[in-house]
Amino acid sequence: MLDFLGNLERTHRCGTLRAADAGKQVVLMGWVNRRRDHGNLIFLDLRDRSGICQIVLDKELTPGGHARGEQVRSEYVVAAIGKVRLRAPEAINLKMETGEIEIEATELRILNDARLTPFSPAEEAIKDEEVRLKYRYVDLRRAEMQRNFRLRHEITLAIRANLSQQGFLEIETPILTKSTPEGARDFLVPSRVHAGEFYALPQSPQIFKQILMISGFDRYFQIARCFRDEDLRADRQLEFTQIDLEMSFPRRESVFAVVEQFLAAGFAAAGVTLPTPFPRITYDDSMRQFGSDKPDLRLPGLTDVRPAFTDENLATLQIDPALPVVALRIPNVGELSRKEREDNHPLFDQKKGAKFIDDFKRLAKSFPEAAAKVRELTGASDADFVIVVAGDPAHHIKASDTKFPGRLSEREINVYAAAGNFRTELAKKYADRHGAFRMTEETVEAAHVHGAADPIDGSKAFYPIWIVDFPMFEYELASGKWVPAHHPFTAPYEADMANLVSDPASVRADCYDLAMNGLELGSGSIRIHRKDVQQQIFASLGISDEEARKRFGFFLDALEYGTPPHGGIALGLDRIIMLLAGAANLREVIAFPKTAKAIDLMADAPTTVTEQQLRELHVRVALKS
Ligand code: ASP
Repeated sequence: MLDFLGNLERTHRCGTLRAADAGKQVVLMGWVNRRRDHGNLIFLDLRDRSGICQIVLDKELTPGGHARGEQVRSEYVVAAIGKVRLRAPEAINLKMETGEIEIEATELRILNDARLTPFSPAEEAIKDEEVRLKYRYVDLRRAEMQRNFRLRHEITLAIRANLSQQGFLEIETPILTKSTPEGARDFLVPSRVHAGEFYALPQSPQIFKQILMISGFDRYFQIARCFRDEDLRADRQLEFTQIDLEMSFPRRESVFAVVEQFLAAGFAAAGVTLPTPFPRITYDDSMRQFGSDKPDLRLPGLTDVRPAFTDENLATLQIDPALPVVALRIPNVGELSRKEREDNHPLFDQKKGAKFIDDFKRLAKSFPEAAAKVRELTGASDADFVIVVAGDPAHHIKASDTKFPGRLSEREINVYAAAGNFRTELAKKYADRHGAFRMTEETVEAAHVHGAADPIDGSKAFYPIWIVDFPMFEYELASGKWVPAHHPFTAPYEADMANLVSDPASVRADCYDLAMNGLELGSGSIRIHRKDVQQQIFASLGISDEEARKRFGFFLDALEYGTPPHGGIALGLDRIIMLLAGAANLREVIAFPKTAKAIDLMADAPTTVTEQQLRELHVRVALKS
């Protein structure tokens, strides 16, 4: 039997009472986290968002309350009325924030009962994530999830406040809109009013934020929801949240300064000091040193070990002498058996035309000098796992050899990327067992080489780094064409503009990425603000004038009405929170996420709709049986 709430008002939150509150008359409301029945005494751990408080129901003192206490079960919602008292010394629990006190109840009201939950919110996450997602409301009650969302709130609030202080206005842009090209598929929404026509959900507010600059808003930001229909991964969701901003008349430096400030404010809200300015690295150097355009500074970079091998060595080892020969080193792995090494092999990306040597014993037997030199060049200790990665002449994949002075060729990039991917996959694999990611003096040193300052809290090492000077175009093998590597509003370097047609591979894009601990946190660019350049870029994308008009006509028109030079960036808010919460997955920091199969297990979406709805939308479903 349930009780009515009546006029009862709660006076305190469960987690807030302390010894100093002893003697106070209180009304607490919340969920029964745990219940212990000791006969004449029943103890309830009462939980709300703020924490847990122990309620004592003494049969002598409150026979009615005690009887109620016999009926309650975990997750019942109750109101406890009583007095705060100090616990007996032997009952003090210093692990609980409220562990010095308890409530001597005079009354207990059962406001609602609860079915037996599939798992207890009083405990750690269960392994079966599908069950967690189906009963998300129960899962979100867990202390860890409550902490994650409080953190998310605090960080977002700090970032908002900081951007506002920096003169940015928060302006919302449409959700039902037109396609924005960010490289993913669009989610489409059929129009009821306009038969056969569709809105697209925004992949980002890109075009609108640029138009806001044309409209004279000078500095815009938005905590914006974006929708991209692509395959999900641990760091990807169909809908996600960006800290999106755009500014007028900026230099790249001004964008960096803005981001560094708001990010430092956000991290400060999570108790982490993020030293500014962030270091920078060019795309080519990042590939050379880390084999990645989102380098993880917590690990030693790649080492050029070409000098360790003679030409004959390379010939015998069947290594392409024209391509990079690099070593990667994973610290503290210890000796691996042949079987353990072989288990790592599927982590190597074979498709990049690269090969690797991970058996140093064999290398040392046949090429003792080379092996010794590799160890020396990498500075590896005996406990470190070293692998040499090089070009594979037998697997010479098609790629462009075009190379402009000072720039890497596609083929070189492929070898570096194969090494870089292997490096991060292995580091992840060995992280728990061997602490490959644990900051050591050596890795802090390695990060310093790239200009990163000391993270204040060593256990939470966050190493941001800007990647600049990306190539403007990528060589597309299938078509044999150079195609823009970024969204088509990204400006080329003014100095490289003359080469747009003659030397596309040499053109640098005025864009930048922000990476942290091996994750891409965001990307942005200085934009094209001239219609002629914009048209040229569309043309190089193979978008005809007619198509450009159809897709972006409104934007091309706007460009003609006085467009200031402008630029901006967007940072993935979910990823930032994931890093700061120490979560392994975006789903831990998104309240109602989708599974890897793009399903909302709780709401059971997507679902079929009625014939009537389809008719109204002028849509017919062609189902394959
Ligand atoms: N619109 C870009 C994105 O969503 C970011 C930007 O260029 O500002 O990745």
